[in-house]
Amino acid sequence: MNAPGPLLVVGSVAYDDVETAYGKRENLLGGSATYFSVAASGFTAPRLVGVVGRDFGSGDKHIFDSHGVDTTGLVIDPSGDTFRWGGRYHADMNQRTTLYTHLNVFERFRPAIPETYADSEYVFLGNIDPDLQLDVLGKVRAPKFVAMDTMNFWIDGKRDAVLRVLSRVEAILLNDEEGSLLTGARTALGVGRGIQRLGPPIVVLKRGEHGALLFHHNDIFYVPAYPLEVVVDPTGAGDSFAGGFMGWLARSGDLTLDNLRRCMLAGSIMASFCVEGFGLSQLRDVGPDAIRRRYTDFEALTRCPSLNL
Ligand code: AMP
Repeated sequence: MNAPGPLLVVGSVAYDDVETAYGKRENLLGGSATYFSVAASGFTAPRLVGVVGRDFGSGDKHIFDSHGVDTTGLVIDPSGDTFRWGGRYHADMNQRTTLYTHLNVFERFRPAIPETYADSEYVFLGNIDPDLQLDVLGKVRAPKFVAMDTMNFWIDGKRDAVLRVLSRVEAILLNDEEGSLLTGARTALGVGRGIQRLGPPIVVLKRGEHGALLFHHNDIFYVPAYPLEVVVDPTGAGDSFAGGFMGWLARSGDLTLDNLRRCMLAGSIMASFCVEGFGLSQLRDVGPDAIRRRYTDFEALTRCPSLNL
């Protein structure tokens, strides 16, 4: 039985300064909740919880509005500036150096869930302090499907809290290096199964240009990255993947393995649009026809007749 429902995301909203082989851009609207919600808006109208500072521009608010993102939960804190992150990518785009992380108003962020969000059924706990992730979980009345992200910083610094969140979610979507750090395992299968033993029956391991693996109870599914000749800026690819995945899930309301496979394709498709331009420049213009075309390409890319040996 399909029961679509509202999707909530909590995470960072940032200004990013990014350098790649294709150039340098400053003040790009970014952050995990931003990429997630713009990607998810290809399928549903997400609700965002986050914080920005006094420097937040009305043009940037318009990006959310024009994508149907509900920003009732986006707090403007006039006491400081928006979270700022700077990163430089190496010739191998899978490698990046963080140049700076200025938390600014994000440091004092205590997510408040507006009353109109309390009935959210699909929840994505973006990459924030695991204690805050737990706090959000306590404020959503009856979530049907909660997924989380995390990063090395929290796995190293607040491991127990990360494990507490893990024991309460249906799914985690994270990078393979972070998965290795969490489990000590060295192979993708070892990481996936190791994380499942910590709680969530569903694990999505994101592997950059090498695609992503879904572990669903005893089953495994693999989706490649959509083949692109040029990757301009990988920033936000992981969050866009998560947005596509959760966006389709919330729209369909179908938690079967077959539908989770569709979620994986939806994630890979939104990530592929994201990396084709700096910041949101490509992702923000994606409509249903472009998504459908890439879905068809994916079907052709992975279809294979049986081996009649
Ligand atoms: P990704 O490329 O998927 O790792 O996401 C990059 C986005 O994460 C950028 O837009 C940054 O603004 C944001 N970001 C970087 N560091 C952090 C952090 N420590 N906490 C939350 N968001 C961050």
